[in-house]
Amino acid sequence: MSQKRILKADRAYTATDSDIIEQAAVAMAGDRITYVGPVAGLTPELTADAVVEELPGHTLLPGMLDGHVHLSFTAGPNHDQVVDDISRETDMEQVLRTASNAQKCLRAGLTTVRDLGGRRDVVPTVRDAINAGRLAGPRILSCNVPITVTGGHIHFVGWEANEEWELRRAVRTLIKHGADVIKICASGGNMTAESNPLMVQYSAQQLGVVVEEAHKLDTPVAAHAIPTDSIRNCIEAGIDTIEHCVWLGADGGYDYDEEAMATAVAKDLTVSITLAGVFRGYLADMPLSEDMRAAMGISGPLEEERVAQFRNTWQSGVNLIISSDSGVRYTPFDDYYISLRCAAELIGIPPREVLMMATRNPAKGLGVLHERGTLETGKAADIIAVAGNPLADIKAMADVKLTIVGGKVMFREEMIDAPRTPALGVN
Ligand SMILES: [Zn+2]
Repeated sequence: MSQKRILKADRAYTATDSDIIEQAAVAMAGDRITYVGPVAGLTPELTADAVVEELPGHTLLPGMLDGHVHLSFTAGPNHDQVVDDISRETDMEQVLRTASNAQKCLRAGLTTVRDLGGRRDVVPTVRDAINAGRLAGPRILSCNVPITVTGGHIHFVGWEANEEWELRRAVRTLIKHGADVIKICASGGNMTAESNPLMVQYSAQQLGVVVEEAHKLDTPVAAHAIPTDSIRNCIEAGIDTIEHCVWLGADGGYDYDEEAMATAVAKDLTVSITLAGVFRGYLADMPLSEDMRAAMGISGPLEEERVAQFRNTWQSGVNLIISSDSGVRYTPFDDYYISLRCAAELIGIPPREVLMMATRNPAKGLGVLHERGTLETGKAADIIAVAGNPLADIKAMADVKLTIVGGKVMFREEMIDAPRTPALGVN
């Protein structure tokens, strides 16, 4: 008989229409949720032989999903350092680092992470070990290596493809080798010294070829896109998740395109914003924030225009998800809550919606909503418990006490004595 477990807490945030349940219970048997509702509604059938855990003062939530991480990267103090680290490490060191980083995600309350690029076969090796039960970790969706132009953004781990037939071949080969998602760098990026973040790397037509080829094999496409021209190309091509989406104009100022976003909404596309690496230094009470501000070159308050385009994107009604880009500079794997705080405190999104952008919305955008992203009977038992009430104060998301993946306890606070990643660039 499969293991039965019941969690009881002050409330559950379900990320469904029923939203919040006071004095809640979530029951599971094996890897499935069997009940979500008030404690008073538990039946003898559910409670018989079940391990019952009381969590007074806690909130139960669906396990969170981070749509954009780099599990093999080192979260060092600057881009050059990260590129140097991952270029220098052996494949064996990279696999161990990836496994260790994946486990840090459990501590952050993440039960699914989508890796958008590393050295060939490193992340899929760890994903497969977790799936086979040989290693504890979150569920991983992997692009394996990202597609980029010759010398383009993250070329040091990328598959360089320029012409249409090269793009088709890259997509087919990656899927043949088990990619869960295709990642393409539609524009240059800050991490790659040889690329220009304001420059378009692929036309809408080229991106369309990638979408066509990937969708033939039921595989979604994620595209890195910083400037407005590149975002427009992604929307025209029907890219499933547009990553970063910073709306930078050719002159380096901000250039939000309302009409393009309306098209993205009509096509039911997803925008995946990555805030934590850029904005964490603006959270005044962050530990070490003085050092962090100095390292990040922050002197004054956050300029309104830098957050305005994220606010516009949110208010367009698009399926918006909050991703971390963990692994790049300043962005360790165990503090996804910082991304949530940036969304709530700097963009002004209410906590209830922020939590939706970490659960149901990413499950939809990543194509796994039928299995994950909400607390509902019949779904996979991916559940977290946090101390306090994050609906009242999003800071509570820093206090993840319990992370369950597929009905198995993968993280419990007492399991780790060390503090979180303690300082900038330590990993
Ligand atoms: Zn990235």
